[in-house]
Amino acid sequence: MPVKIRSARYGRKIRKRFEKIKRIQKSTYVCPKCGVKAVKNIKLGIWRCRKCGVIFTGAAWRP
Ligand SMILES: [Zn+2]
Repeated sequence: MPVKIRSARYGRKIRKRFEKIKRIQKSTYVCPKCGVKAVKNIKLGIWRCRKCGVIFTGAAWRP
């Protein structure tokens, strides 16, 4: 199936970049609402502040 081949190729290509993104996702960021460094990535593109609980979307690797 041509779709299967394409996705496999794509996965190999982004693996290196994905590893870098994963490392960035582990770190915390400053919340734009309360200013506390407690923002963590909970899902791809979704960020949540542990201090005030605000949930916002952003880029896949940065709030
Ligand atoms: Zn906050």
